[in-house]
Amino acid sequence: MNIPFAESYKIKMVEPIRKSTKEERLQWIKDARYNLFNLKSDYVYIDLLTDSGTGAMSEQQWSALMLGDESYAGARSYYNMKNALKNILGFDYFLPTHQGRAAENVLFSVLVKEGNIVPGNSHFDTTKGHIEFRKAHAVDCTIDEAFDPQLEHPFKGNVDLNKLEKVLKENPKEQIPFIVLTITNNTAGGQPVSMENIRGVSALAKKYDVKLLFDSARFAENAYFIKIREEGYANKTIKEIVLEMFQHADLATMSSKKDAIVNMGGFVCFRDEELLKKASTFNIMFEGYITYGGMSGRDMNALAVGLDEGTEFDYLETRIKQVEYLGSKLAEYGVPFQRPAGGHAIFLDATKILPNVPKEEYIAQTLGVELYLEAGIRGVEIGTLLADRDPDTRENRYPKLELLRLAVPRRVYTNNHMDVVAAAAKNVYDRRNEITSGYKIITEAPIMRHFTVELDRVK
Ligand SMILES: *Cc1c(COP(=O)(O)O)cnc(C)c1O
Repeated sequence: MNIPFAESYKIKMVEPIRKSTKEERLQWIKDARYNLFNLKSDYVYIDLLTDSGTGAMSEQQWSALMLGDESYAGARSYYNMKNALKNILGFDYFLPTHQGRAAENVLFSVLVKEGNIVPGNSHFDTTKGHIEFRKAHAVDCTIDEAFDPQLEHPFKGNVDLNKLEKVLKENPKEQIPFIVLTITNNTAGGQPVSMENIRGVSALAKKYDVKLLFDSARFAENAYFIKIREEGYANKTIKEIVLEMFQHADLATMSSKKDAIVNMGGFVCFRDEELLKKASTFNIMFEGYITYGGMSGRDMNALAVGLDEGTEFDYLETRIKQVEYLGSKLAEYGVPFQRPAGGHAIFLDATKILPNVPKEEYIAQTLGVELYLEAGIRGVEIGTLLADRDPDTRENRYPKLELLRLAVPRRVYTNNHMDVVAAAAKNVYDRRNEITSGYKIITEAPIMRHFTVELDRVK
C-alpha cells in the first residue's frame, strides 16, 4: 500500500475554537449588519477571512522572538533580517516596514508621480490604491485566460507580453516608474507566474529601460508551483528557484504576513543604494528609523526565521496540498469554484452556486452569509461590494466574477476543518433553489465600503 501524504509538522500548542448554534449565528450576523468583518472572531468556528498575518509560527520562530534585540539603531535583529534577505532573495539593501502596504507607500513616495503609468498583472488593491492616490494609473496586462474561472491553466497569473509591450511602446519611459509583477497573482485567484514569463517580463523591462518591481507577498508559493509545474525545475530546490526568480527584479515589496509566516511585518528591497537613500527619508517619516521601520526587534527575528522556513519544500507542500484538498472535496461535491485551486485560497463561484439571487442583491455576500449560518465559516466577498461604486456616476460597478474567497491560514487548520468547510458549501449549494434573495445596503463608506458596509435582508 502507498503511504499517504501527511503534514510536515506536529502540534505543540493549541488554541480552542468554539462551535455555535444556528440560532446564535442568526442573531450574531444580524447584529453585525450582515457584514462578516463586524463579527467577533469568537463567533467564528473556522476563519477563512484571510491568510494575512493569521499563520501559526513555529517553535524556532517563537524562540527567535526571545532573542530579539530592541536597540533603536543597529539592532542584531535588523542584521538577522538583512542576512536572510541577502541569502534567500539575493538583495543587498532593504528597509523594514510594518506591513506590505507600508512598503508600497515608502517606495512609491519616491518613484510614482502624477500622470505615471504602472503596468502589471492584476495589481493588488493596496498597490493600486497607492498608485491611484498619487494620481497615476495602473494598467492590467494579465493574460486573458485568468478571467475564465473554469479554464485550467498552470500559470494563470502570467503577464500577456504583447499587452505589456504595447504599454511600454506607447508611453515614454520617463512616465513608467516600474512594472509591477505580483507573485503569486492574488487578485486572479492566487495563481502563479511562470519562470518563463518572469524572464519575458524582465527582457521587456530591459529593452525599454524600465525597472521591474516584484510584489512578493506569496513568492514562495509561486516558487513551489514553478517546481511542480514548469519544465526544468523539478530537481531544483525552492531556495534555488526563489533566487533565480528574484535575479530578475530591481525592486521588491513584501507583505511578510503572507509567505514569511509572521503576524506583522514587511519590507522593501533595493539593488540601488541611491534609491535606498531616497526612500530612507520616507521610511523615517512614515515607519520608523531605517534599522527597524515599524517592526520590533523580536518581529524582525521571527521574520528572518519565517523566510527560511517558508522556502522549504516540505512546508510548502503541506500548505498547498491543503488548499488543493479543499478544492478536491468541493469538486467531488460539484460545488463550482475557480480552477485550478490557488496557492493560498479557493474562490467559490457565487453566481453559479446561487443562480437565483439577483446581482443587485450582492450574490457573493449572500453566499458568505449563508456559509456562516450553515457552519460558522467566515470567507470574504470578492464581488460587487468590493468593487465599490463608479467614482463619477456613483452607480454600482458589477465585476466579471462574483467570488467568495476562502483563504487558508498557514499551519492553522487540519484537513478535518477543510472537510467541514466543503460539507457546509455543499449544503448551501444543495439549498440553492430556496435562496432567491440577497441584501440591500443601509449605510456605506464612499470608498473601500466592504469593510464597514451595513446591510439588511431584501426579504
Ligand atoms: C497582502 C498583500 C499586499 C499588502 O500587504 P499588507 O501586509 O496587507 O499591507 C500587497 N500585495 C499583495 C499581493 C498582497 O497579497
